[in-house]
Amino acid sequence: MARANPDQLASLESLKERVLEVMASLSLFGAAELRALEEVRLGVLRRNATQRHGVTRWKVLASGSLEVESVDLHPELLNQAWRDYAEFVLYHEYLHAMGHRAHDQRFRALESLWPNDGQNRGKAFTKAMRLNRAQWIWECPTCGQGFPRQRRGAGRFLCRTCRCVLVDVPIENAQ
Ligand SMILES: [Zn+2]
Ligand SMILES: [Zn+2]
Repeated sequence: MARANPDQLASLESLKERVLEVMASLSLFGAAELRALEEVRLGVLRRNATQRHGVTRWKVLASGSLEVESVDLHPELLNQAWRDYAEFVLYHEYLHAMGHRAHDQRFRALESLWPNDGQNRGKAFTKAMRLNRAQWIWECPTCGQGFPRQRRGAGRFLCRTCRCVLVDVPIENAQ
């Protein structure tokens, strides 16, 4: 986990207000549950995290029971462009923090109550983060589809559509 700077903390705070407001409007969660969420510390993940968009961290108490330590979001989610998806991710993590630890049926049912579509935005976010870090595009010479990657494909990968070998094209402004 990285330490959130004051701007990030302000964004997290406003996300929290919004998500708790929507959760209250679903009339599904108790006031005490929502108040407990209000107390959960918010933070950010390391900038280069690609697989995880949000994480709920737990600590083990002396009694052996678990307590939420923090909810951390990917720092790029705090950009205004991802605001809708950031709300969804925070809602998802809040469901974990309320004790729904697994992505089971009950969890998915609650998650689906969120007013906008998180799954598709999640895919778009993953793709954008990959593109940010990519040094190469693996390009199909037949259909022109490109796949941003950090490493060369070196002739080892095929286009799923055409079964042609993907060609490495360097990204000009790669760091
Ligand atoms: Zn989850
Ligand atoms: Zn192709």
